[in-house]
Amino acid sequence: MRRIVLATNNKHKIKEIKDILSGLAVKIVTLDDFPGAPRVEETGKTLEENAILKAEAVYRFTGLPSLADDSGLEVDALHGAPGVMSSRFAGEHCSFEDNNRKLLQMMSDVPWEKRGAKFVCVVALMRDSGQPAMVRGEVKGRITLEERGEKGFGYDPVFYLPQLNKTFAQLSFKEKNRISHRARAFGKAKNLIEKGLLDD
Ligand code: IMP
Repeated sequence: MRRIVLATNNKHKIKEIKDILSGLAVKIVTLDDFPGAPRVEETGKTLEENAILKAEAVYRFTGLPSLADDSGLEVDALHGAPGVMSSRFAGEHCSFEDNNRKLLQMMSDVPWEKRGAKFVCVVALMRDSGQPAMVRGEVKGRITLEERGEKGFGYDPVFYLPQLNKTFAQLSFKEKNRISHRARAFGKAKNLIEKGLLDD
């Protein structure tokens, strides 16, 4: 069976992505199978640039088609921040809790109707043609006034979906993985692979 490498070290994301891609006639491997794989600095100014940087580095190291995502939370009242800085919003080695605390604090004066935000996921698929294929998924919601829910990771406890009256952190793994930005982007990547993109 053909193999494709997921270019991420985040175990939460790997679990979600493997679930979304299940059923593909391709074996999904991770960087754990390639000791010594380079750690790629996310120096890009956009999610697209970072996804390409990661996909290219892993393709070069492994010689296998690679799938890399870069994702982030874009908050209307903060003009799209934290965006590409989502993982490092509260500082270089900060925790998810530090980021959520900082976000809620910065939003403390923002009324409910102005708390719109979206999660964005950009996926780059690098293959032998040398040209990355790009897809994007988004999901819209609002930033809560306080953390709600225990599941998921990152900004999940502060990202509220009005249509479900729940935060991402209150959804089951399966529920989140049906509607998330990552599900949408990797769902599109899955379609492209099923249509033979790896042979283009
Ligand atoms: P990256 O794609 O690994 O650079 O992710 C950037 C950051 O965005 C993560 O560290 C999280 O803080 C945040 N993020 C991305 N996807 C999600 C998600 O599904 N839930 C919560 N936070 C997320």
